[in-house]
Amino acid sequence: MPDEHGALSEADLAIIRKWWDQHWREPVVCPVCKTSEWRMANHVLKVHRHGFDAFKDGTTIYPYIVVMCATCAHTMFFNSAKIGLPPPSAPTSSSTARNPLFLPLPQFPSTKG
Ligand SMILES: [Zn+2]
Repeated sequence: MPDEHGALSEADLAIIRKWWDQHWREPVVCPVCKTSEWRMANHVLKVHRHGFDAFKDGTTIYPYIVVMCATCAHTMFFNSAKIGLPPPSAPTSSSTARNPLFLPLPQFPSTKG
């Protein structure tokens, strides 16, 4: 099961691999750039409804595995519950964030001279 931060475990990756073997048919061609190299995010994402109560506790959310084209960043969402991933674990008292949600932007060289 994904940890409380939504990070995928080795057991999750095994479930996803099994689902992939049953459903992913090479070549999967990106509809935007026509390449076929894909990357998967290391987290389960949850998508809220577009409603005024979307962020209340206990409301309906949709959990997804995210697969992104390595060339143009076109992204596909696969429902993680349908794939068979269990919901994330509850936080523990010793929990700390292991994976950043976003990677830092590249550091550009100074133009001052
Ligand atoms: Zn693409």
